[in-house]
Amino acid sequence: MKPPKILITGANGQIGNVLTIALREKYGKNQVLATDIQKLTHENEPYEFLDILNTQRLEEIIHEHKITQIYHLAALLSASGEYNPLKTWNINLNGLMSIMELAIKNKIDQVFFPSTIGVFGKTTPKVNTPQHTSIEPETVYGITKVTGELLANYYHKRYDLDIRSIRYPGIISYQSLPVGGTTDYAVEIYYHAKKYKKYECFLKADTMLPMMYMPDAVKATLNLMEADPRDVKVRTSYNLSAISFTPAQIAAEIKKHIPEFEITYKPDFRQAIAESWTGSIDDSSARADWGWSHDYDIARMTVEMLENVDVNMID
Ligand code: NAD
Repeated sequence: MKPPKILITGANGQIGNVLTIALREKYGKNQVLATDIQKLTHENEPYEFLDILNTQRLEEIIHEHKITQIYHLAALLSASGEYNPLKTWNINLNGLMSIMELAIKNKIDQVFFPSTIGVFGKTTPKVNTPQHTSIEPETVYGITKVTGELLANYYHKRYDLDIRSIRYPGIISYQSLPVGGTTDYAVEIYYHAKKYKKYECFLKADTMLPMMYMPDAVKATLNLMEADPRDVKVRTSYNLSAISFTPAQIAAEIKKHIPEFEITYKPDFRQAIAESWTGSIDDSSARADWGWSHDYDIARMTVEMLENVDVNMID
């Protein structure tokens, strides 16, 4: 079978950077075109500047590079989104609509679109949140993502578009510093622990959130995209779970390696966002439909994070 020719949008982001490298390792460097409105910090070429709101340029790129698969990652995240709802709606939702319309028009084989635990809201059960449940998000980010999920399902049912999606939990990685998300503390804490032996957390000590180490997120994404289309039964977005922890628990894990590490708490507006989400996720549909399983627990992740974070990346 011919390898896919892949377009990644938002490729310079926390997930895009790592997913680009993983896809290039799997399919070959020239099979994967990275695009963003910023230059990539790793593995730059092949790269094209692409603002997802420029539909004309998006279509030109699809033609010029004979694209057959799209990983559509470009978005504004939960905390950033609150500063500019209209811009968030345009990028997150109109961007996705352009991708889906052009995917149908240009007979793209497969599209991946990440959703988020940010689709959940105060009426959602907080423990073992089911796949199908009450979804009433209170951030503009969550609103754009749940609308995107419903439209993805609609385009699949109406036009047979093979679009697949995961509700990522908070993603933890050392390759780049995340910006604008509510779970960013769980990455920052490792940099500060290693460099300064202390960290001031913007969430309260007992705020439980679902999280996942980057290699598991990449594995899930590749597994979902490789699955037989008949096994992909959820066409809104799959719940996906690995580890859930609080700031106090991750601090205790870090203290096992850096005993002098100290955490203090100064919650800001992100606390309310975190409290509107859930603490743990039931991902049995992903496990049953396409064989999802995670590899990393908090202990193994902490060892790797402390080993790999580059403290020169923070002031
Ligand atoms: P990120 O903010 O690190 O990266 C997003 C990228 O999109 C950035 O490189 C940015 O330059 C780019 N971008 C912004 N506006 C653009 C535009 N108009 N045109 C083209 N590119 C644009 O985000 P991330 O953490 O890598 O997340 C990637 C995707 O995964 C997003 O859709 C996000 O909603 C989803 N997600 C991420 C997490 C997480 O914890 N990181 C959790 C759940 C869902």
